[in-house]
Amino acid sequence: MKVLVLNSGSSSLKYQLFDMAERTLVARGAAERIGEPDSDISDHAAALDRIVANLLGIEVAMARRPDVPQVAVFDTAFHHTIPPHAYRYAVPEEWYESHGVRRYGFHGTSVAYVAKQAAREIGRPLGELNLIVLHLGNGASVTAVANGKSVDTSMGMTPLEGLVMGTRSGDIDPGVIVHMARQAGMSVEEIDADLNGESGLSGLCGVGDVRDVLEREAAGDARARLALDVYAYRMRKYIGAYMAALGHVDGIVFTAGVGENSADIRERACEGLQRLGVQLDETRNRASARGARPIHREGAPVAVLVVPTNEELEIAEQTLQCIQTSGAATTEAGRQNG
Ligand code: AMP
Repeated sequence: MKVLVLNSGSSSLKYQLFDMAERTLVARGAAERIGEPDSDISDHAAALDRIVANLLGIEVAMARRPDVPQVAVFDTAFHHTIPPHAYRYAVPEEWYESHGVRRYGFHGTSVAYVAKQAAREIGRPLGELNLIVLHLGNGASVTAVANGKSVDTSMGMTPLEGLVMGTRSGDIDPGVIVHMARQAGMSVEEIDADLNGESGLSGLCGVGDVRDVLEREAAGDARARLALDVYAYRMRKYIGAYMAALGHVDGIVFTAGVGENSADIRERACEGLQRLGVQLDETRNRASARGARPIHREGAPVAVLVVPTNEELEIAEQTLQCIQTSGAATTEAGRQNG
């Protein structure tokens, strides 16, 4: 069986075709920096057009085989184990009952995958492990995993909450929204566009790509330095909060574009947490290795790991499981996962 996975992120569209017999990759590709000023891909539709042109053979095959099942894998599914005390907001109950206002979380596919890999790396069953997973990409979130299950995550009802991101603010006082509406006369649409697209690193220093921010900081740009300080401080606050939420932490896991590639950001995220058991080994952290690897000091109480995510493989695995367990031609993995 072959599974084609289309993975649409906030600024990228990736595809991978797996042969599930051997879990081998048959084809892959991506369009990145969608919609950015220097990008020639204006939006996801343009990106999909381009990829679909590359996948013409597959598209034709799909058109000729309408019996091939389509499976939707929801990015929120892994977070369905979050308990009410973590997913409820302290707002009028009516907001929750009638409008679904609660924390849902995102990046679940990625966290599910890297948590499994981290357990393999640590050498213990996932069901016995408490982990803090930092998915640091263009979008960014932290998830607290207790005995292998998500119990809290920093993204909320929308992906806007939590960590500072490329162009999203993360946590702010909700009163700021009211203030900007009243004081600056901004519309809801304008505030929404600014908080999602003009905030975060980009809002603080003018660029949202961590590589660019690091470059500017190295060249002496004070705004870039401040942006990175705010970015890393928010991560440390969440790590500390989730240590308290979990009570005991076996491992901290870094994944996605920034988490996998930037030793600098990993170091800043863990700065000052030594007495809480988070002790990086500088050589391991800086080594230009690939693949899942430990970066903590030998004998440190908390394992710190870099684990490359593979959302597409996780989606393919869940797709296979869904098709095998349902036996139906067309179904949804999300339904299976709750
Ligand atoms: P993702 O959303 O997982 O594709 O990650 C995209 C983010 O990863 C962008 O903000 C990039 O700046 C960041 N990134 C990729 N490679 C590096 C690197 N070597 N150092 C710092 N950030 C990186």
